Amino acid sequence: MQQIVIVGGGAGGLELVSQLSRALGKKGLAKIILVDRQPTHVWKPLLHEVAAGVIDKNSDGVDYRIHAARHNYQFQLGNMSNIDPLNKQITLDPLLDEQGEPLLPSRVIDYDYLVLAIGSVSNDFGTPGVAEHAYFLDSLAQAERFHKALLNQLLRINQQSDSDSTLQVAIVGAGATGTELAAQLHHVANLARSYGMPAMSSERLEISIIEAGKRILPALPERIAVSAKKALTKLGIKVLEGTRIVKAEKAGFVTNNDQLIAADLLVWAAGIKAPDFIQRLNLFETNKAQQVLVNTHLQSTISEQIFVIGDCCGFKQEDGTWVPPRAQSAHQMASLVATNLININKDKPLADYHYTDYGSLVHLSKYSTVGSLMGSLSNSSMFIEGRIARLVYISLYNMHQFAVHGWRKGLLVLLTRKLSNIVGPKLKLH
Ligand SMILES: Cc1cc2nc3c(=O)[nH]c(=O)nc-3n(C[C@H](O)[C@H](O)[C@H](O)COP(=O)(O)OP(=O)(O)OC[C@H]3O[C@@H](n4cnc5c(N)ncnc54)[C@H](O)[C@@H]3O)c2cc1C
Repeated sequence: MQQIVIVGGGAGGLELVSQLSRALGKKGLAKIILVDRQPTHVWKPLLHEVAAGVIDKNSDGVDYRIHAARHNYQFQLGNMSNIDPLNKQITLDPLLDEQGEPLLPSRVIDYDYLVLAIGSVSNDFGTPGVAEHAYFLDSLAQAERFHKALLNQLLRINQQSDSDSTLQVAIVGAGATGTELAAQLHHVANLARSYGMPAMSSERLEISIIEAGKRILPALPERIAVSAKKALTKLGIKVLEGTRIVKAEKAGFVTNNDQLIAADLLVWAAGIKAPDFIQRLNLFETNKAQQVLVNTHLQSTISEQIFVIGDCCGFKQEDGTWVPPRAQSAHQMASLVATNLININKDKPLADYHYTDYGSLVHLSKYSTVGSLMGSLSNSSMFIEGRIARLVYISLYNMHQFAVHGWRKGLLVLLTRKLSNIVGPKLKLH
């Protein structure tokens, strides 16, 4: 029986493993193994909400072990540290407990087909001081670390009788992550007042969002950027465009004009790259963002047995641009690789990957949602905002839940989430 190993149970990997286990695992046609270094999956586009404390990972996360038991695949907790394409094996680091004591030795897993779905990390472009002083939102652990620091700072400001004292937050990178986080933080500062911090409000929060490019949301159509900037400015959020950061210090970010943008909390959300681990392996052909180069079937250029999906995949389109690192790309790549692995199992020819841009949405907390939808027949985009945009934004997460759980369970999960939103606190306080 074929052994298919998927490393990374994120936006792409978990959808893929769900499809393969239904089509092959359940029928005994292949053994499916998922490897992830985390025990729980949280959809990455929700991480800024975890960071702000408006959602709870316990109600929004998927426990891989439980998911595996219900979906006919095996889950292995561990960090992949090596790939051996000649012997078709991967190695996982020894597993340590919370005290750093060894729990499991290093493990080797054989594969007939391997799928790399290990996502991406923030790219600080080597900017001095960023790794030491700034928060990143690459993983659940990092989002939770920021959340704890935010709560501490809110408590500190709340205790200060001088009403002029403010909490300063500086976010570098005005893509969707940076802009959405800024709006969520503004909302949270007001929420804090109802949760034991009566002196806190958005008036005591100063947020700066810093973008090196000419405008915020550089990857999205200009109309979305204009509308989002208007909404952010109305909230009193400082939007600094065309401002390049050359250094981070404990006291804030320093610009190329040697200006200090003072901050108590520094966040870096400017650009991504595939994990450094890929470079260290020195196995794959990669692009500037360290993404693994693939052919039209999404097989790595060095081995047809290794497929690559999601943020770590470097797929060059006919017009010379790279497929953007987005949840919709990971979703489409997962579907294509599921089709191809099923085709291989049935001795059918492989399908080609074509990225379809269905549009983009930016959700600025409760204040505004703006975006564009791409027409299916033409390449023209339709601008949407307000309630419709919000509904489409929410439906993206819902579609992910359906892909991962199936329709019936997916609906129950969404219903549970809705109920817990109604009865639970609006702000997570630990
Ligand atoms: C805050 C934030 C907001 C975003 N908002 C949006 C949005 O609104 N719309 C949108 O389209 N996109 C958004 N994105 C981008 C989107 O989240 C990613 O494009 C998408 O998650 C990529 O999916 P993936 O499967 O490639 O990787 P991920 O979802 O990141 O999953 C990677 C998985 O691999 C595991 N892993 C990594 N390395 C190893 C290893 N060595 N061994 C074992 N396991 C490993 C990780 O634990 C993780 O579970 C956002 C991203 C962030 C950070």
